[in-house]
Amino acid sequence: MTTALPERTPTGLLIGGDWLQTATHLNVVNPATLGTLAEIGDASPQEGLQAVAAAHEAFQTWSLSSARSRAEILRKAFDIMTAEIEDCARLIALENGKAWRDAMGEAVYAAEFFRWFSEVAAHVQGDFRYGPNGDKTIITDYRPMGVAYLITPWNFPAAMATRKLAPALAAGCTTVLKPAAETPLTALWVADVLERAGAPAGVVNVITTSKSGPVSEAILADSRVATLSFTGSTYVGKLLLEQTARRVLPSSMELGGNAPFLVLEGADVDKAVEGAMVAKMRNGGAACTAANRFYVHASIADDFALKFEAALRGLKIGPGIDQSNDLGAMVSVKERDKILELVQAAEAEGTAASAVSDVPADGAFIAPYIIRGVQHGSTLTRNEIFGPVAPIVTFEDQAEAIRMANDTEYGLISYVFAKDAGEGIKVARQMESGMVAINRGIASDPAASFGGMKESGLGREGGFDGIHEFLETQYFAVDL
Ligand code: NAP
Repeated sequence: MTTALPERTPTGLLIGGDWLQTATHLNVVNPATLGTLAEIGDASPQEGLQAVAAAHEAFQTWSLSSARSRAEILRKAFDIMTAEIEDCARLIALENGKAWRDAMGEAVYAAEFFRWFSEVAAHVQGDFRYGPNGDKTIITDYRPMGVAYLITPWNFPAAMATRKLAPALAAGCTTVLKPAAETPLTALWVADVLERAGAPAGVVNVITTSKSGPVSEAILADSRVATLSFTGSTYVGKLLLEQTARRVLPSSMELGGNAPFLVLEGADVDKAVEGAMVAKMRNGGAACTAANRFYVHASIADDFALKFEAALRGLKIGPGIDQSNDLGAMVSVKERDKILELVQAAEAEGTAASAVSDVPADGAFIAPYIIRGVQHGSTLTRNEIFGPVAPIVTFEDQAEAIRMANDTEYGLISYVFAKDAGEGIKVARQMESGMVAINRGIASDPAASFGGMKESGLGREGGFDGIHEFLETQYFAVDL
């Protein structure tokens, strides 16, 4: 497997249909080797505003285009992406570090947002009713909001971009996308796909920058920007909400998680381990949906832990670009060290922790950890780990397990392994999370509403809800 970048890998800023070079540059690093992959544009706040101007101008015509024509562009983007899916996966594996299987899985998932929203675009339904007093008709209409500012994180460089771009374009909005500085190449590649699919100049603009704070502040203060869609940490989400509050700007927030993974008495242990391997290990644990804390009934805790540990030991660790590896590198040495610090904190609290395998010496690699005898309320159960570390808490009483699972400021997703679906749904209804996976280790689907409760976010992406983050509701009262 070659480590070269795909032939079509843009490195400039995309503004008004042109790829522009900047005065200074940003280095993109391969976390598996720590070598430089590419030098890309480093936008200033002024260049950010140039992108807003291009998006604003393009909105004047794009917003009036037919839903069908927008759907066809999105469908073409799906076709191009699918035909070139290995290029997308290669970029993800190289700049993010994740294993090839995860990179391919993400690339396919990302492309599916183009297909799903090409289907949704032409099915937005308004509403017509007679007023109860008989004096008017009530017509509810939806119109595109305007210029959407989209900010994405490094952990899913393709899917987080398409999960925002596809509904925004389907709704008739134009966009300025700011990917994470660590993984910008995939987003630039996705934007090139949309250009090739026929998105008119200015409909999709991409700025990459090392100055995300000042650049975003300038963009959010600009009255031509109509909405913000952010995916990232709760910490940065709150900073941005303070800024959007100044303009009462609609803000969709997909933030951090601290997902509990419950294995209830009577659950199928093998199935729970299979689910844990996906919920914990997809992306090496660097997913907002990653199982962060395991609560396992005392009657099956040993069996679960031994089988989970055996499965983790079987994972081959090495560069994600090599298809024989199961677990790639973390995105950076800094992120890897943040995870190791959490493990050290657990040890300082008196919990024994040892890695289940060795890792390559170079690169941002970390071995999986399975940590037993963890107390609820300790460091590992309170913090988003974002890596392959699995703390296990044992419980006797189901009501207590549910209480511990909900005892967090986050509420993105929960996992419930129960003896049957009926019990699983009963427990799921008590979970304070926007999503619950029952007897399975993954919930994400472009056709489903993705999003969190509590400090995990505001709004929903995907499903039939996602497009409404980019539509303004307007009501016409018509005199009878
Ligand atoms: P992050 O540090 O919050 O960064 C996310 C994005 O915000 C990046 O593009 C980053 O740019 C930008 N950013 C950072 N500081 C900013 C500021 N002051 N003003 C404006 N933008 C700013 O998050 P991350 O470390 O990339 O991603 C991990 C987090 O994302 C985790 O908490 C995870 O749970 C969450 N996440 C949530 C979801 C979801 O759907 N709920 C999905 C994926 C990830 P730079 O790269 O330049 O810093």
